[in-house]
Amino acid sequence: MTTMPLPEKRLEKYKEILLKEKEEIQKVINNINDIQKRGAKDGNGDLSAYSQHQADLGSDTDESERRVYLLEKELKNIKLINAALKRIYDKSYGICEICGNLIPANRLKIIPYAKYCIKCKEEEELRKKRRK
Ligand SMILES: [Zn+2]
Repeated sequence: MTTMPLPEKRLEKYKEILLKEKEEIQKVINNINDIQKRGAKDGNGDLSAYSQHQADLGSDTDESERRVYLLEKELKNIKLINAALKRIYDKSYGICEICGNLIPANRLKIIPYAKYCIKCKEEEELRKKRRK
């Protein structure tokens, strides 16, 4: 497949979008890290109390579990964005990694770090589901 790379101007535009998005996510991650650190300090002495009252583990635990989940999700997004930035530098950005066709601009607008076109993405998801 020899799909032409996106024009330099378009790549620049997407790079801006990606960098901005990355900044936002980084903020969220820093925020969560801060809270987790504070929580770990506060909660250190309370560990025995927690294990004794397994049944009524308060909303604190839910909160921190939710944060861990969010953190993992955001870290995954950062990785996707970094990979997309790398594709911008080597000019393969916007080209589906599976079929080599251009990814439609309206898809990139919604998911700027998309690396597959919609068709391949759907097939990929089906494959993943079957594997489970
Ligand atoms: Zn494709």
